[in-house]
Amino acid sequence: MEARAPRGTSDILPGEARLWQEIEATVRDVMRVYGYGEIRTPVFEYTELFARGVGETTDIVEKQMYTFEDRGGRSLTLRPEGTAPVVRAFVQHRLHGEGLPQKLWYCQPMFRYERPQAGRARQFHQFGAEAIGSLDPALDVEMIAIPIEVYKRLGIRGFEVLVNSIGCPVCRPAYRERLKAYLAQRIDRLCPTCRARFERNPLRVLDCKEEGCREATAGAPAAWDYLCDECGLHFESVQRVLAVLGIAYRLDGRLVRGLDYYTKTVFEIVTDGLGAQGTLAAGGRYDGLAAELGGGDYPAVGFAGGMERAVLALKAAGREEGKAQGRPDVFVVRLGERAWNEGIALAQRLREHGVAAQIEYAAELGKARSMKAQMKVAGRSGARLAVIAGDDELSRGTVALRRMDDGTQWEVPVERLVDAVKEQLGGGGRLA
Ligand code: ATP
Ligand code: MG
Repeated sequence: MEARAPRGTSDILPGEARLWQEIEATVRDVMRVYGYGEIRTPVFEYTELFARGVGETTDIVEKQMYTFEDRGGRSLTLRPEGTAPVVRAFVQHRLHGEGLPQKLWYCQPMFRYERPQAGRARQFHQFGAEAIGSLDPALDVEMIAIPIEVYKRLGIRGFEVLVNSIGCPVCRPAYRERLKAYLAQRIDRLCPTCRARFERNPLRVLDCKEEGCREATAGAPAAWDYLCDECGLHFESVQRVLAVLGIAYRLDGRLVRGLDYYTKTVFEIVTDGLGAQGTLAAGGRYDGLAAELGGGDYPAVGFAGGMERAVLALKAAGREEGKAQGRPDVFVVRLGERAWNEGIALAQRLREHGVAAQIEYAAELGKARSMKAQMKVAGRSGARLAVIAGDDELSRGTVALRRMDDGTQWEVPVERLVDAVKEQLGGGGRLA
């Protein structure tokens, strides 16, 4: 067999994992200051959750789901997106009883059968948030402000915020008819998928990535001209809050989202630095989803951002992958038979006190490494200090401490080792 991960999946190796950890830590802290609680949902759900929640005519449900039958004959699907599972959990656990709105965030893997390219994978990861149980436009804007804050803190710049309103079940039918009439005049210029979509879900034609379809629909009517009073007022309020927060945005009447549950506000944060996969994050309001899942009337809004795309954007901003192994504070060099074993305990004690301590391991069973070989590895490791433990010194209850930068070396009693190391590391060491 060939040792190769499935197409569209990737391993995150330690050097790159440092970038992931940085993004995750940033996301976690931004969610904290905005008052969101973390939720983790299962990797798979019953298929009907997505069929109902995401919508039968969406790309995801039509052709991207990893669906399988389990041994009990139930149809299950690997989670393709985060919103439907979070709303399912909100309904199942009656989270409305804990106060509204419920503000929840996640960072989880998602699975979609897509054509893999840079920034587009079959297993990918999203961070996102959902605020369930309020129609306040301030929350719509919060969903835009949160990813912006994440990108700003990470030093990712040069993105644009696109905003639209696609109305609600009251006003969308009129827009839909108007759009259909417009599309009907250009039907022969649309791709086969769009011609098939035209009847069932004409809004999706505006989301098509084919150049021909984009050109043919360049002058399509915008939904904001057809909004009912409530949606119109909501859309105005969203724009007012965006202005209050000083968030620059561009209205885009063609922006519709690939999931059926959206109502009113939809938005994307796009960058031109990543080629065709330029959408960093996207989201919108979905006032009908909780009811669709049998949970009652809870208007809600959310967003999801691609982790892989955040990593690409971070690299495009000049950030490099970290070293595979972190630099230790201390390298314990061992001389002699007794020291070869007791040195392990010294490294252990330093680690228990929060000091990153490393040792060199044997290449052959029962054979210690020479002093020279160990010092060489210690030098390459970037450690700031070496602890040199020899049998003679250990029998006197001492070890030698050596500063790697200038080679100064002195003896310290073993029981004072942790303190002496911490003194040397000062504020720069990672202390417990
Ligand atoms: P696209 O139009 O690019 O297919 P989408 O509408 O399917 O995007 P959403 O479902 O809204 O995307 O997902 C939100 C974000 O998650 C995207 O903006 C992107 O950053 C990321 N994302 C979506 N699909 C993938 C994927 N297959 N691989 C990597 N990241 C993805
Ligand atoms: Mg997609």
